[in-house]
Amino acid sequence: MDFSGKVAVVTGGANGIGRAVSLGFARQGAKVVVVDRDAEAGAAVAAEIGRAAIFRAADVTRSADVQAYVQAALDSFGRIDCFHNNAGIEGKVAPTAEYDEAVFDAVMGVNVKGVFLGLRHVLPVMIRQRGGAVVNTASIAGMIGTAGMPAYVASKHAVMGLTKVAAGEVGPLGVRVNAICPGPIATRMVQDIARQVSPNNPEGLEARYAGSIPLRRYGTAEEVANLVLFLCSDLAGNITGAQYAIDGGRTAAPVGIS
Ligand code: NAD
Repeated sequence: MDFSGKVAVVTGGANGIGRAVSLGFARQGAKVVVVDRDAEAGAAVAAEIGRAAIFRAADVTRSADVQAYVQAALDSFGRIDCFHNNAGIEGKVAPTAEYDEAVFDAVMGVNVKGVFLGLRHVLPVMIRQRGGAVVNTASIAGMIGTAGMPAYVASKHAVMGLTKVAAGEVGPLGVRVNAICPGPIATRMVQDIARQVSPNNPEGLEARYAGSIPLRRYGTAEEVANLVLFLCSDLAGNITGAQYAIDGGRTAAPVGIS
């Protein structure tokens, strides 16, 4: 996959999956705009890439911040070919009957409104260019329910809805929009969830969950980055409006009876 001459924007690019995607795009020749509210880690990723990257501090829930990172990409590199609309938060683990309203709003703000605002301000650029590829980060929580995560599951199902609508709208204009649905990936986010659910033995919980996955392990951020780059590349030229599980087989074949 050759991204020479291409420009990629990655939200949530400071850590975890977004960091691996930012580094992956740079390794394949792209110019990269790393976007995150974590200024220290975001600047470190851009510094690691060097002159082919810039960092923009932004809160993806704020329209002005989103417009500013889009403008920064255009000012620095002139175009946006690939957009990984990825920033997200997990919220708290609690049943729907007890779920905190403010946490629900916060999760929907980042995971749904943040993804919407990214599409709202990047798609016009790609439409003008008559080309581009967007990958929204959903989750297997956008395909199936998980007890104890009502806000997260609802937000990731909403990402699937936004993906399908945008794909239908901009397909005729040469722009592709897909979603990825990672299962558990070894990043800070899954560690936080494990600590919330099992504060005394988060590793034990992770090992039990891994046992329910056909490949018997969590994925890596680099494996997710490979999928994002593929979907943004010309190799995926006929793929739009699709959702790709990258979950070691978790949703296809969870624990069996044999
Ligand atoms: P992470 O916490 O390592 O990275 C998330 C990044 O998003 C952080 O750098 C954080 O600062 C940034 N971010 C959060 N809110 C933001 C905001 N309002 N504005 C700007 N930046 C913000 O987690 P990750 O696992 O890399 O998660 C990346 C995406 O993958 C998320 O959308 C998450 O829901 C999704 N996902 C993760 C997993 C997993 O198992 N790790 C599974 C499925 C989906």
